[in-house]
Amino acid sequence: RAAIEVIGLRKRYGRTVALDGMSFTVLPGRVTGFVGPNGAGKSTTMRVILGLDAADEGSALVGGRPYRSLRAPLCQVGALLDAAALQPSRTARNHLLWLAHSQGLGARRVDAVIEQVGLGAVARRRAGGFSLGMRQRLGIAAALLGDPPVLILDEPVNGLDPEGVVWIRGLLRSLAAEGRAVLVSSHLMSEMQDMADHLVVAGRGRVVEDTSVADLIAAA
Ligand code: ADP
Ligand code: ADP
Repeated sequence: RAAIEVIGLRKRYGRTVALDGMSFTVLPGRVTGFVGPNGAGKSTTMRVILGLDAADEGSALVGGRPYRSLRAPLCQVGALLDAAALQPSRTARNHLLWLAHSQGLGARRVDAVIEQVGLGAVARRRAGGFSLGMRQRLGIAAALLGDPPVLILDEPVNGLDPEGVVWIRGLLRSLAAEGRAVLVSSHLMSEMQDMADHLVVAGRGRVVEDTSVADLIAAA
C-alpha cells in the first residue's frame, strides 16, 4: 500500500504556478528521490503533504488519509524542511529534548538519535554556531525522533561534505530496508541516482518522469 499519494495537486502563488497537476506515489521500503530544478515545486509539494500549506486543487494522502500535522501523532511522519530554521540559542541536545518532550519522548531517545546522526561530540554546543552540514544532521535527528514510518526530507544533502553524503546515503538505505517510506528531494540528479531506488523527476510543477533507478540505468 502506498505510504504517500500525491494526486493532481495544483497551486498558485499570485501569478506564479507552483504546482500544475503534480501526481506520484511513494511506497514503503524504498528511497524515493524527488528531483528537479529549483522552482519545480518540490518544497511546495512536501509542505502540502505535511499539511503545512494548502493546494488549490488535488489532494495528498499519507497512509490513505489527508495528513493533519497538528492533530496526527507527531511520530507518524518525520520531516526535514529547512535546516536553517533551527533554534540557534539552544544547544543541539536541548533543542532535541524540547522536541522530544512535545512528543512524549525522553532523553534516552534524544541521545540515541544524536549518536545515529553523528553529533555526539557537539551535542552540548549551541546550534547557532553549527555549519549547514551539522544543522542538516540535527534536522535529520529531529525527523527521526519519533521513529516514524514515513520520512520527508527536503534537500538534506545541502551543506554536507562528501563524507556526510556517503553517511546519509547509508542512513536512508537502512531506514528504507526497515520498511520505512523515504521521500527525499534534491536539485541534483547525480546525487539522487546514487541514493534512491525510485526517482520522481519534477519540472514546472508536474512530474516529467517516474521511474525506478534500475530501469533508468538499464535504459542509459
Ligand atoms: P522547489 O522546491 O522545487 O525549488 P518550490 O516548491 O520551492 O520549488 O517553488 C515552486 C514555485 O513556487 C517557484 O516558482 C517558487 O518561487 C514559488 N513559491 C514557492 N513558495 C512560494 C511562496 N511562499 N510565495 C510565493 N511563491 C512561492
Ligand atoms: P517556513 O517553512 O516558511 O519558515 P513554517 O514552517 O515556520 O514556515 O510555518 C509555515 C506555516 O505552517 C505557519 O502558518 C505555521 O503556523 C504552520 N506550521 C508550522 N509548523 C506546523 C505544524 N507542525 N503543524 C501545523 N502547522 C504548522
